[in-house]
Amino acid sequence: MTLTKKPESRPATASWGLASGENPWEYAPAPESTDHIRIEPEYGLFIGNEFRPSKPRKTFTVINPATEEPLAKVAHASKADVGRAVATAKEAHRSTWSKLPGRERAKYLYRIARLLQERSREFAVVESMNSGKPIKESRDVDVPLAAAHFFYYAGWADKLEYAFPNRDPRSIGVVAQVIPWNFPLLMLAWKIAPALAAGNTVVLKPASTTPLTAYLFADVVRQADLPPGVVNIITGPGEIGMELVRHPDVGKVAFTGSTAVGKMIARAVAGTGKKVTLELGGKAANIVFDDAPLDQAIEGIINGIYFNQGEVCCAGSRLFVQESVHEPLLDKLKARLSTLRVGDPLDKNTDVGAINSAGQLAKVQELVQSGIDEGAEIFQPACELPDKGFFFRPTLFTGVSQSHRIAQEEIFGPVLSVLTFRTPEEAIEKANNTPYGLSAGVWTEKGSRIFKMVGAMKAGVVWANTFNRFDPTSPFGGYKESGYGREGGIHGLGAYLDFSPNGAKGR
Ligand code: NDP
Repeated sequence: MTLTKKPESRPATASWGLASGENPWEYAPAPESTDHIRIEPEYGLFIGNEFRPSKPRKTFTVINPATEEPLAKVAHASKADVGRAVATAKEAHRSTWSKLPGRERAKYLYRIARLLQERSREFAVVESMNSGKPIKESRDVDVPLAAAHFFYYAGWADKLEYAFPNRDPRSIGVVAQVIPWNFPLLMLAWKIAPALAAGNTVVLKPASTTPLTAYLFADVVRQADLPPGVVNIITGPGEIGMELVRHPDVGKVAFTGSTAVGKMIARAVAGTGKKVTLELGGKAANIVFDDAPLDQAIEGIINGIYFNQGEVCCAGSRLFVQESVHEPLLDKLKARLSTLRVGDPLDKNTDVGAINSAGQLAKVQELVQSGIDEGAEIFQPACELPDKGFFFRPTLFTGVSQSHRIAQEEIFGPVLSVLTFRTPEEAIEKANNTPYGLSAGVWTEKGSRIFKMVGAMKAGVVWANTFNRFDPTSPFGGYKESGYGREGGIHGLGAYLDFSPNGAKGR
């Protein structure tokens, strides 16, 4: 990366490693090229390996949240389209996919994984343009992890009986998958890879703000010569997601998104016999003990909450600091926060990109205002924000109490609430005082303390001396209002298999 001297006349913005205003050096712009990207003006629904307009023909516009410019029009599916997609997936399951030996399914999954790698730059750029996330994250995290999920589950496709000995694992049939906008391609991979490895066919509904990498993935499906109907992708509003989930020919539902919609889905499928996994919201505690390596912890805190603009279900949005290190840690944290570069998601130096939508930005602003109104103290670095687009400064609050909304509610933005504790017991009690239970982090040098904390935290994932690490082999999921079921690893595979004595429930 290039460093150029900043002109004296420009307002002092922060630079790497030094507090705001102290360094006259500034990074030169390093925008990723978009020359190799082709975004179609309009996308139809992807059903049976064909892009087709919705019936009746209706579209909606998808925008770039960093510029507010339109990117493409996408089909607005109707109830009849949901029926068509499910019928196509059902037929593909019956006639081809369920009949293929596991080793043949594996070949398709490996092919998809390799194509994702080959086309990684294209996927990364489209993902950043459509979601607002920095290119260095889509390039180094989202796309490689998506490919890794296909590689990983390809390896299981011909070993289901070994993964689940004596349980007679069978495919379920048609799977309905509804995914959110914060990791559009990665969530698609989390859902589609295990479903196909297990022998199911899928109908996937991406979030309405971020369907473009799903439609790019549809192109990969065709390139990989996947039999028609194995993967179907439909776009439309929430009601269309509900229509899909409720469809009687769907045997399994996988949802990632808000707790409110997760509860609606749980109610809608109750009593139907459909298998369900729900991966919902979070309000993770990141706990720093006084013996932790503070500089390392600072990086973990920053990564925990400002990665992907904090639009992460497992974001470390509540920081608990042991009182004796509260002051030095906060000094370091504020200095580090001032070095974060906010702006163009396509610039390779950007750390914090655009919030995904105007609606989400309004939610973040409203919750931040509530923090101020309830008496917490706000700190934001003096960075410049672009004139257009949905940007928000990385923010931290001190003087937060457990009852503040910013300590209780999922903000889903670059906003950290800092609280303190004296003893491990107090940390555990405060950390578990939330309706959520998706993830947590512990920073300490003592191995025994790590084990004690991991056992006591009501969270599906607990990271020790790190944060936001993901691996396809590792199960991920929540307690309480963070949902149920696990994705990833062998647990995530089991969620897509039928172990019942009577077969796939007639679907
Ligand atoms: P939603 O839960 O509404 O959206 C997630 C997905 O569900 C999208 O595909 C959405 O479609 C779809 N959906 C919406 N309503 C329904 C419905 N009634 N039945 C079936 N599917 C539906 O999340 P939001 O986008 O509204 O975000 C709100 C908050 O949820 C965020 O601020 C954040 O706190 C949390 N969230 C958590 C996520 C996580 O990873 N756990 C991810 C996203 C949000 P459409 O886009 O068309 O509305």
